[in-house]
Amino acid sequence: MMNLTRQMIEIRTLLQEIDRSAETLKLPSIVVIGSQSSGKSSVLESIVGHEFLPKGSNMVTRRPIELTLVNTPNTAAETADFPALKMYNLTNFEDVQKILFDLNMAVPMEDAISNDPIQLTIRSPTIPDLSLVDLPGYIQIEAADQPPILKKKIRDLCDKYLEAPNIILAISAADVDLANSAALRASKIADPKGERTIGVVTKLDLVEPKVARDILMNKKYPLKMGYVGVITKAPTKSLFKVTRGHDAFVAQQNHEYTYFKSNKQEFQHCNVSTKILKKKLIRVLERTMSMSLTPTANLVQQELDETSYKFKVEFNDRHLTPKTYLAENVDSLKLAIKEFNEHFGRVELKSILRNELDQKVLDLLASRYWNKLSQSPSDVKVLIDNLAELNSSKTEDPFWTKRLDLCTSSLTKLGVGRLSTTLITNAILSEIENIVETTQLRNHPMMKEVVKEAAQNVLNTKFLSTADQVENCIKPYKYEVDVEDREWSVSKDHSIHLVKEELQQVNAALQNMKTSIGGRKLNQVMQYLEESGKLNNEETLGFSSSLISRGREALFLRDRATILNLRLKALRSNACKSKDNKYKCPEVFLNVVNEKLTTTAVLFLNVELLTDFFYKFPRELDQRLNANLTEEQVVKFAKEDPKVKRHVELQQRKELLELVLAKIDAILAFQRSKLVPQSTG
Ligand code: GDP
Repeated sequence: MMNLTRQMIEIRTLLQEIDRSAETLKLPSIVVIGSQSSGKSSVLESIVGHEFLPKGSNMVTRRPIELTLVNTPNTAAETADFPALKMYNLTNFEDVQKILFDLNMAVPMEDAISNDPIQLTIRSPTIPDLSLVDLPGYIQIEAADQPPILKKKIRDLCDKYLEAPNIILAISAADVDLANSAALRASKIADPKGERTIGVVTKLDLVEPKVARDILMNKKYPLKMGYVGVITKAPTKSLFKVTRGHDAFVAQQNHEYTYFKSNKQEFQHCNVSTKILKKKLIRVLERTMSMSLTPTANLVQQELDETSYKFKVEFNDRHLTPKTYLAENVDSLKLAIKEFNEHFGRVELKSILRNELDQKVLDLLASRYWNKLSQSPSDVKVLIDNLAELNSSKTEDPFWTKRLDLCTSSLTKLGVGRLSTTLITNAILSEIENIVETTQLRNHPMMKEVVKEAAQNVLNTKFLSTADQVENCIKPYKYEVDVEDREWSVSKDHSIHLVKEELQQVNAALQNMKTSIGGRKLNQVMQYLEESGKLNNEETLGFSSSLISRGREALFLRDRATILNLRLKALRSNACKSKDNKYKCPEVFLNVVNEKLTTTAVLFLNVELLTDFFYKFPRELDQRLNANLTEEQVVKFAKEDPKVKRHVELQQRKELLELVLAKIDAILAFQRSKLVPQSTG
């Protein structure tokens, strides 16, 4: 047998999910209103069978509570969920009370009320399937001394809930004249014909049974669905003594039952007891919801048509969920990394490292061989005369042998292990960042960070061991570097290339200065500086200090160009053809050292760092992007991209609408199937 009310409540919840603020897409609910102390909380709690509403003299409900009751016949547990807070399966109802209290208090006093409802679902084997709304104590607030604007805000919120087709449960206390019932007054405005209102009269035990009967038979304010009388509190001096928890409700029911039984005569033909009230609510809600099904289905269909159209036009009906979006991204990232792997091997490693070490060699040569300023005039002469000397002398001058040994050792001991590992690590990291920028992930700051961290993590685990291994392998070169003829010849060509480049840069810089300052002016200042340098003169002859410093720079460049030209000649001369002249051709020898260091380092970097990285990184990505992310994080990730957000939301909306429609259709079909035999039979 189909549990219709349950199904319809489910549909109602789904509709709320589709559009919380929707004015039209909704199924009716029962809205409970009553002035303070009318017994409103007691009625709600006796329906639920639990004390769960916040109490206290200053406790005025500031947010509507949308209460969904779900009958769970097959479980003993009574649980509560706050779906919006992602809090599920609470079993302690004092906690529920506390949460409701806090949620209420979070609404600032000056706002008086919040339109944002609190959603609370309670599951229990002893409750009926019902959907109720506990409306903010608007009657109390309205009555209080509120500024008109707030009064309007409160009234607007309440009016929205009291609208058809919602059912109004108007609570009034028997010991207060019904003519003064604020709940009935409000319900009469929203439902003037009294078609959707159920009157509940509480505290029947406080008036004479005869008076109570007159109230329940109310002729003055007739309601089509009538009045139900209840006693929702057992007297304090109860025979049952227990006043809290579930037992208190057993006591209340017993008390109510005994009271109406002993006054059976007076309450004949009257609707009394909480039990009857519950039955009535179930029946009325089911009927009202059923009546709303067809119009709601039509609206849902319209909404679905519109959404489907948008989905087709905007996204060509392409299926996309946050999960598939993430998977697509991870796949394309992995693919790009695979391509990177194919194009990033030993050759690339070598070029990165070689460039860096070439630069180091150029720096060493500049500071130890090509720098006129740092050398004594005689050194410079030797250096400049080197070309002539190269051909004439074969004996090694200790001055020059020592200089080359120092340079070689600076190179071999500069920490090639750490330097090369850092260089390659940084190159990989920056390439990964570039790759990420070519994928959709560029729109997701959080994911970019995750990918970067994953790469860093994989590289870090190997950093120290790789650096150590490389350092160990180049260790022999710290003591001796053997050179072969072929190596010498290759390195000589490379050296010529490097010195030529250096010379070009120096000439270009000099040319730039000439263009910006003017050739003549620059010559004047250079000439002045050379002469004043000789004379040690402080006089600046009207040259500005910046011009003086540019002049010094020009002199430096000119001297550097002269030396480089000479070195280029030396390198091209016969003297540098043979490795025997290494002390006189330091550029070539240092390049040989460089080549050896690079080749050895690359061998190990490739195996230790690169191969390991390309094996582990995709796995690390899977771990971090697929396994470690919660569903919520995946959704958050996908929605960071506005277009994806729209895509996912539109698709979700479409799917929910389809689901709702299917559910409504199933109920309507069921109802029709039940009608057919009756009409034909
Ligand atoms: P609310 O302010 O409308 O939510 O009212 P409450 O449910 O808190 O009830 C107000 C007071 O009336 C409380 O002290 C209850 O114990 C008491 N009360 C509620 N229902 C009954 C009843 O049926 N009989 C009696 N005698 N007292 C009741």
